[in-house]
Amino acid sequence: MNKGLLVVISGPSGAGKGTIYSKVIERTGMKRSVSVTTRKPRPGEVEGVNYFFRTEEQYQQMIAEDAFLETAAVYHNYYGTPKAPVFENLEKGFDVLFEVDIHGVKSIKKKYPEAVAIFVMTPDFETLSDRLRGRGTESEDSLKIRLGAAKRELGSYEMFDYIVFNDEVERAIQDVIDIVNAEKRRIKNNLPQIKHLLGKE
Ligand code: 5GP
Repeated sequence: MNKGLLVVISGPSGAGKGTIYSKVIERTGMKRSVSVTTRKPRPGEVEGVNYFFRTEEQYQQMIAEDAFLETAAVYHNYYGTPKAPVFENLEKGFDVLFEVDIHGVKSIKKKYPEAVAIFVMTPDFETLSDRLRGRGTESEDSLKIRLGAAKRELGSYEMFDYIVFNDEVERAIQDVIDIVNAEKRRIKNNLPQIKHLLGKE
């Protein structure tokens, strides 16, 4: 059986990667990775669905137990990917989709160079700023910080394999699905099946 594909979506907050992430999961049946965070839940967010919300003490305990694939501090809170469910899914042949910040991409790429990294961006910074304002959850200070971070994140483009411009969300979702499908058809991701067909295994 072919091993599952590990796909990482990242990009600035406000670029729409959260929506794209959920829709791609919904439409493809890819496995999601629910992150752990010390951030407080936003209205409507559900424990175990959006995140596992934990105290800083609980989070430090998980770090001590080596429970994370990667962990990063983003805007004064911790975010991390629990390790065990990811490996289990990949071994079973399920594709796993992550949504992480730029540091997360870096550590995942370092540990798993075969991970496919997709950067989601708005067509320009004005659109990004408008979307963040429209969300109504950011103070002006936090908005400035997030816009500055967005420029730096785009500057790390070389660590990504693909970029998806989210000017029209339906097309952006389809772009991500197309990328995943193309990656799944790479020869190197089908070697067990090819060898089986050739009677070599
Ligand atoms: P938010 O607080 O808006 O949900 O997320 C803030 C940032 O944390 C986003 O850029 C998001 O991609 C990132 N993030 C969410 N989960 C993880 C994770 O498990 N690891 C890392 N490194 N970043 C994450």
